[in-house]
Amino acid sequence: MKLKETPFCVRCGISRNDGAQLEVHHLRPPRGDETLFFDPDNLVVVCSSCHKVITGYEIARNR
Ligand SMILES: [Zn+2]
Repeated sequence: MKLKETPFCVRCGISRNDGAQLEVHHLRPPRGDETLFFDPDNLVVVCSSCHKVITGYEIARNR
């Protein structure tokens, strides 16, 4: 699993040891596509606060 290979946020570099809550973000939104959902190349590990920022960008872009 990607989270174990990358125990830190790829965006700001905070690690779980720093108290960050790490989450998996999909570079391309899978939208129900299981191939995209489980594709390791489509996954990045980010902390919860960066995840909110990235998701906010995507929502703004799709509007
Ligand atoms: Zn972060």
